[in-house]
Amino acid sequence: MEERVSRQNSLFHPYCVLVPDKPITNPIYNLMAIVIDPTILAIIHQHNHILCVSHVNPDGDAYGSLLGMGWILRHLGKNPVLAMQDRTPTEFRYLPGSGQIINPSAVANTYDLIICLDASSADRMGTVFRAEAHAPIPLLVIDHHITNTRFGTVNWIAPDCVATCQMLVYLAQALDVPLAGPLAECLLTGLVTDTLGFRTSNTTTTVMETALQLMVGGANLPNIVARTLSRRSVRVFQLWGVVLADLHLEEGVIWVTISREQMKRAGTNRDDGQLSSMLITAAEADISATFTEKVDETGQVAVECSFRAKPGYDVGALAFELGGGGHPPASGCTLPGTLAEVSQRVVTALKAAHQQQAALK
Ligand code: AMP
Ligand code: MN
Ligand code: MN
Repeated sequence: MEERVSRQNSLFHPYCVLVPDKPITNPIYNLMAIVIDPTILAIIHQHNHILCVSHVNPDGDAYGSLLGMGWILRHLGKNPVLAMQDRTPTEFRYLPGSGQIINPSAVANTYDLIICLDASSADRMGTVFRAEAHAPIPLLVIDHHITNTRFGTVNWIAPDCVATCQMLVYLAQALDVPLAGPLAECLLTGLVTDTLGFRTSNTTTTVMETALQLMVGGANLPNIVARTLSRRSVRVFQLWGVVLADLHLEEGVIWVTISREQMKRAGTNRDDGQLSSMLITAAEADISATFTEKVDETGQVAVECSFRAKPGYDVGALAFELGGGGHPPASGCTLPGTLAEVSQRVVTALKAAHQQQAALK
């Protein structure tokens, strides 16, 4: 397999353990804080003209952490430029600062520093990151995916955090940036979306305390939930109606395929309403998958795979083996090939993983 760590001399800081750091001045609780390596704080302090980027197919944590980092840097008197491969979908346009996100063609070649948020490998930045022009620029990677390939010059990877936005709460505290106003709104969005509204198995009291602190800072939880998790286009339901007619359940694995034709006819603009998260609620299944046909930038037919697992099962490892990434309960990858070929091959691998993992229970 291809070597997926692309930069030499990467620092690996396994800051996964939450320990009491310094007394936090919080009106309600003395929060536990994460100890952040001084290298990370120093690289931020030392640079001014900073490009921030997140991942393709962005979710709430991608937007929350990108925009949140923008607010942190502006508070420090710096000049951040925020870029994303994709156009901001309607559901995230309420986020303060979203109007300032630029597309890849507006990204320059020269910055002092690049900060990559919530992306587990370099390819996830899409065409915002130009390998040749941007390679000499220091790259700070801040991410919570256990599958992160540590592709930065400096890497801060915290798989114990439920969202990259949780890491930014600790970063803001370490940099003495108040968790209030637009910053609080952006960071709570990532916490809400990556935990599916504080329902995932990694939602600890620490996560709830973090969320509470953001709400004390002014973030509006009901508004964030209403704008993100509790909002779908009717077209998404129409797509579900079509694709769920051909739902498969075998050996604890539930899955559907979505063709380009079905997507086009429903007119959902590539949004499947997180169908894999819906499928994993099936009582009879431990692993769910959706396979969505797409054509990539080069005109090649490829399939986007999205996986979910119930507690006690892990789909992160398989996604990583297939060249993608994610977390034990939620992961994904993109594979070349037709919908029929890819779904058949991957379902076989998912069933094997299910059998192996069920035996360990
Ligand atoms: P999704 O199924 O798109 O909601 O993604 C679930 C999780 O898997 C997220 O943490 C994504 O960052 C990750 N993921 C999805 N697709 C890919 C991919 N092609 N490469 C790496 N990680 C992915
Ligand atoms: Mn994300
Ligand atoms: Mn995330």
